[in-house]
Amino acid sequence: MATELEVHSIDEHTPTDEFIAWTAERFRNRRMVLTTSFGMEGCALIDMYAKHGAVPTVVYLDTMFLFPETYSLRDRMVRRYPLVTFVNRGTSLTPEAQEARFGPELWRRDPDLCCQLRKVAPLRQALTGADVWITAITRSQGGTRSGVELVGWDWHYQVLKICPLATWDRQRVWDYVRENNVPYNELHEQGYPTVGCTHCTAPVPGSSPGEYSRAGRWAGTEKTECGLHWESGAGSQESGVSALQGSLADAPDPGLEAPDSRLPTPDFR
Ligand code: SF4
Repeated sequence: MATELEVHSIDEHTPTDEFIAWTAERFRNRRMVLTTSFGMEGCALIDMYAKHGAVPTVVYLDTMFLFPETYSLRDRMVRRYPLVTFVNRGTSLTPEAQEARFGPELWRRDPDLCCQLRKVAPLRQALTGADVWITAITRSQGGTRSGVELVGWDWHYQVLKICPLATWDRQRVWDYVRENNVPYNELHEQGYPTVGCTHCTAPVPGSSPGEYSRAGRWAGTEKTECGLHWESGAGSQESGVSALQGSLADAPDPGLEAPDSRLPTPDFR
């Protein structure tokens, strides 16, 4: 059992493997969900938890618009980590039903709505009932992710959000993946720094797997995020450390005390 001393020894400089061990112990009686889109960072994080023998349920959202290479990677991950439970919590709204209801090529006309239907709403539903949400996002990915905390309360989804790789950059992730023979999407070696839906992901000429970029996502538009991750409000490393300490002491007991402001989630099933 973790002691108070151990809890308060966690900070920005805690080695990632120690931090992961701490999360596994600290929240072992909580409902933990690790979400992934099978990006390089997510695969690396699953490997790290697997090494500790304490992988939370891994949830992914099949948008039904994923690349064949991504489905292949999912299958390789399932074979590589037989003790890990992978669960698809993607939408039940088929592409045909979406077109009938919202018109053709919604991703071109209103990508925010398309992402809301196929990513954000399913994530909200997947996190319902969860106490702890673990993700592999990093500050170096920029945008709304630049202020992400190692541990923080996510007011949007009403869940404790843990980002063990918050301080990592892509090169470090790529080094980890190669050194530990972690499965990864072969598209990373074909000019795709990140891989999302087929309709909204393009290769970035000159990119390499060790360089993170979202330039190929929703190319030609202002959109850079699907809307899964909201700004935490902690905008700097220093405030992130403070928030970490504060979040451990002051955050509502996950799932118990926080007011529930969840919006209704459409159910297409
Ligand atoms: S990434 Fe594109 S296709 Fe996928 S859900 Fe978002 S808008 Fe739709």
